[in-house]
Amino acid sequence: RKITIAIDGYSSTGKSTIAKKLAKSLGYVYVDTGAMYRAVSYYALINDMFRNQELQKDQLIQALDKIRLEFKLNSNTGLPEIYLNGDLVEKQIRTLEVSHVVSEVAAVSEVRHKLVEQQQAMGKNKAIVMDGRDVGTVIFPDAELKLFMTASADVRAHRRYLELTERGDQVTYQAVLENVQKRDLIDTTRSDSPLMKADGAIEIDSTNLSLEETFQRCLKLSNE
Ligand code: C5P
Repeated sequence: RKITIAIDGYSSTGKSTIAKKLAKSLGYVYVDTGAMYRAVSYYALINDMFRNQELQKDQLIQALDKIRLEFKLNSNTGLPEIYLNGDLVEKQIRTLEVSHVVSEVAAVSEVRHKLVEQQQAMGKNKAIVMDGRDVGTVIFPDAELKLFMTASADVRAHRRYLELTERGDQVTYQAVLENVQKRDLIDTTRSDSPLMKADGAIEIDSTNLSLEETFQRCLKLSNE
């Protein structure tokens, strides 16, 4: 059985849904690293760190020490939720507004450095499923199982669109598709730990798979 499970991949490939289900079924800790980049982005937005839509990098770097992130388990769902300086921000970080700026924030090396350190500490001596963009390449290069999730951009945008509209967000499919494509471009081309398939990672293309089929495939690999 695999103890450290690293799940990376493009935006909206179902990484976090699969990671959550895996963690639940294996009894492992689940860590959503994307939530941490989103929470830092949300902090930058509410603290007015964008001028003419441009991130004021130095301002953010200077404020990094003031950003405290924690995960606490929701007592009803049993799932971890993210807190920013003591406040639950799980809902606030999932908006398209945050999605628009998160890849720019995640490209700042100082931000990555801080979060990677924290992520490595969270996985120490624990059975863990972690999902993100650099889990198998940077955070846990020795993970026993590395999965690399892909799916066509159209399928991914469709899934994300449903997710956002189901919770009542006013978005168009086109805006979601553009955001997914833009984030993938920034994530794969940034200079600091760009998104790529890690050495030894197994690629799972879910374009033509249901969630259950994808999950069963991943569960089988985890139990091998
Ligand atoms: O996983 P999610 O889509 O919520 O991640 C949001 C963004 O955070 C990604 O598009 C990427 O820019 C960034 N990210 C990252 N490294 C991670 C997780 C997320 O750069 N490990």
